Amino acid sequence: MDTPENPVKNLEEKNIGSNFIRFMIDRDLESGKHTSIVTRFPPEPNGYLHIGHAKSICLNFGLARDYAGRCHLRFDDTNPVKEDVEYVDSIMDDVRWLGFDWHDKLFYASDYFAKLYDYAENLIQQGKAFVCDLSLSELRDYRGTLTVPGKNSPYRDRSIEENLDLFRRMRDGEFADGSRSLRAKIDMNSPNLNMRDPVIYRIKKTHHHRTGADWQIYPMYDYTHCISDALEGITHSICTLEFEDHRPLYDWFLDQLPVPCHPQQIEFARLNLTYTVMSKRRLLELVSSGLVKGWDDPRMPTIAGMRRRGYPPEAIREFAERIGVAKANSLVDNDLLMFCVREELNRTAKRVMAVMNPLKLTISNYPDGLVEDIEAENNPEDIASGTRQVKFSKTLFIEREDFSENPPKGWFRLAPGKEVRLKHAYYITCDEVIKNEEGEILEVICSYDPLSKGGGTPDGRKIKGTLHWVSAIHAIPVELRLYDHLFTIADLNEIEEGKDYKDYLNPTSLVINTSCMAEASLADLSIGERYQFLRLGYFCVDSDSLPEKPVFNRIVSLKDSWAKQVKK
Ligand code: ATP
Ligand code: MG
Repeated sequence: MDTPENPVKNLEEKNIGSNFIRFMIDRDLESGKHTSIVTRFPPEPNGYLHIGHAKSICLNFGLARDYAGRCHLRFDDTNPVKEDVEYVDSIMDDVRWLGFDWHDKLFYASDYFAKLYDYAENLIQQGKAFVCDLSLSELRDYRGTLTVPGKNSPYRDRSIEENLDLFRRMRDGEFADGSRSLRAKIDMNSPNLNMRDPVIYRIKKTHHHRTGADWQIYPMYDYTHCISDALEGITHSICTLEFEDHRPLYDWFLDQLPVPCHPQQIEFARLNLTYTVMSKRRLLELVSSGLVKGWDDPRMPTIAGMRRRGYPPEAIREFAERIGVAKANSLVDNDLLMFCVREELNRTAKRVMAVMNPLKLTISNYPDGLVEDIEAENNPEDIASGTRQVKFSKTLFIEREDFSENPPKGWFRLAPGKEVRLKHAYYITCDEVIKNEEGEILEVICSYDPLSKGGGTPDGRKIKGTLHWVSAIHAIPVELRLYDHLFTIADLNEIEEGKDYKDYLNPTSLVINTSCMAEASLADLSIGERYQFLRLGYFCVDSDSLPEKPVFNRIVSLKDSWAKQVKK
């Protein structure tokens, strides 16, 4: 039999692995403990959500979906100092964008302030809470450490009447911030520091973004969270591992109070990702010190940033699925996220051609003034996506990197005397290289085989290299924003002594390319649309785009696109 105190641990010992939460739910449904499940996602509105929150959202809303239960969105808004409606709005936006819906189950911990207050009086009346006059630093001293037991507060034995009177006067704003607190009376000798008479209410004469000036005291997280869960009828309260030590306190409050039910807290490992930071404090610092351009900077691990960069929500959900849930903290490789993004985009993104670093190419035997419409498939992975017409003419741009005057062995791209295929169009052979006085290549002159239209010839000769191109007179200039990791080291928890995480910011995390020329079909853009630029990667139209100046974020490069062009 599992002991009720720690079913998770027992299940783990049975080697249930990453499905341990589902296993617990199955068991609770089979045993009749619950007839349906209710989960919740409880963000504090003190910052934008990040990929770690996305994991928690996918888990909680995903369970509700799979078990035909409910998932509540609850704002844990008990600290008015750091919270803001801007964050509330962005969080709702992000959850919806990820593809989840809380229906009418939107809650705020602040909605429970009156009930929480009544429960606190209830604790006082039971002799299980007291008003303490110790200052913050005294509280710390009295608390003890992991090896030193705590000391009882000199105010611990106040009478119920005195406690009630003082607590009401705290509520009415009679005392200064920090001068008093309400504490649970549990056990100053507990080996668990969380159980050493924790503070449950503090005085804070701060305006709250929802309750305004109604309250001069605010409940602490540990006290608020379990009661909010119980009031909402949550069955499984899933949180991250650092709350494991708080579970006895979660259970203690619910055991003392006449709450409607007693939810089960279950902990899982928080997500950490390589080359980035995930703490809201650090993300806020990056934003407020201008080291990134806002919460939705495409280099940020925020949902807003990933969304602006062009990650599809399906890819983030797939990523959450693949990493699963575990009981041990780990660092997940950003490449796995990139893999999920690429997989999704490969299926869905329309292919187009753009040249990042243009080199002029003239086809000497192509008729002057002729313009052909070349049929190009939109996505070979999705035939239903159809084809489009791309303009072809005598003067084109190709990538500078696709031409080499003195090519290495195994070079499949263009070189003097070599024949290559222009994607969707013709075979061309390089006849001449035009340079300036400094020796810089200005242009290449080629001849084409008119019989090779669409990529084949009557003699069936094999051509290995295929280049992307645009027609010079038709192409439009676009700005590309090319991203790399925000930090130069994989694990930001392993920083050298005396250094700060900001010392590891990658100076080339954003490179702007303003020389790119793209096929004319891209003139008609909508923000957020995603494309594959052949051989250059996946790109998304940025919100900075203007009709006369399209701006694209590179979502992710195409793995090994260049490697394929040079035989190993
Ligand atoms: P802070 O960084 O300020 O400690 P937080 O990241 O825990 O805050 P909350 O708003 O309290 O932010 O988080 C809401 C929910 O998201 C919580 O249930 C929390 O467990 C979960 N969560 C937060 N970070 C991660 C993460 N890296 N991986 C998985 N879940 C996370
Ligand atoms: Mg938190």
